Amino acid sequence: MLYIFAVYKIPPSNLMTSTPITDTFRHKGLRKKLIDLLRSKGISDENVLTAMNIIPRHFFFDSSFLEFAYEDKAFPIGSGQTISQPYTVAFQSELLQLEKGMRVLEVGTGSGYQASVLAEMDARVFSIERQKLLYDTLKSLSPPLNYRIRLFYGDGYAGLPAHAPFDRILITAAAPFIPEALINQLKTGGILVAPVGKNDVQIMTRIFKISDTEIKTETHGSFRFVPMLTDKAQDI
Ligand code: SAH
Repeated sequence: MLYIFAVYKIPPSNLMTSTPITDTFRHKGLRKKLIDLLRSKGISDENVLTAMNIIPRHFFFDSSFLEFAYEDKAFPIGSGQTISQPYTVAFQSELLQLEKGMRVLEVGTGSGYQASVLAEMDARVFSIERQKLLYDTLKSLSPPLNYRIRLFYGDGYAGLPAHAPFDRILITAAAPFIPEALINQLKTGGILVAPVGKNDVQIMTRIFKISDTEIKTETHGSFRFVPMLTDKAQDI
């Protein structure tokens, strides 16, 4: 598929190095092992597992840290942020119950890895990041990260009203509450997934929008995310 080719051509997203990173048999082998591990931890959506087996997670790392790319751990990506743990990416992706061609809003682009996994699953991804440096880094990639991913510098609490409604919304930072703007931007019948909590640990929450006035909420265990912050940061 054409867009996979585009993904493979990207340099590492944090651009710490100008050396192109390749996807070797070793990387593919490590990735396969990671997928087996995710399956053993209970991830069963084959579309998610296939996408994560295709996307080279080490492309999203500084080349000095490539050996960490296929461990099931979160990792710093700069600007005080992290690329989520593979299990968490798989778990949130599975909860989304994605279908091909769906419009998905991601809050917290970070490294772009989660967005790439969703795009690989044939979603039309819109992703917002509040850290200018992370946004600029991804935006400057040529060719773009993936032609199905549209990047925005902005505040996830406000969402993207100009591009709403969305079939799915995924928050990848710890949300103290579910912003009402995001519920409004979800289609009826749509699903929102977010780690909700103000403290160190958040509860993975899935919301089904039943109608304009009714939602159904489910919880799916505890996770740890970096906080979803309120203002745009010009910082770091
Ligand atoms: N999905 C990312 C991991 C994200 S870590 C990946 O695959 O790498 C959480 C991200 O959310 C960070 O990049 C952080 O800067 C961003 N973030 C925090 N608060 C935000 C907000 N209010 N709006 C948009 N992004 C936000």
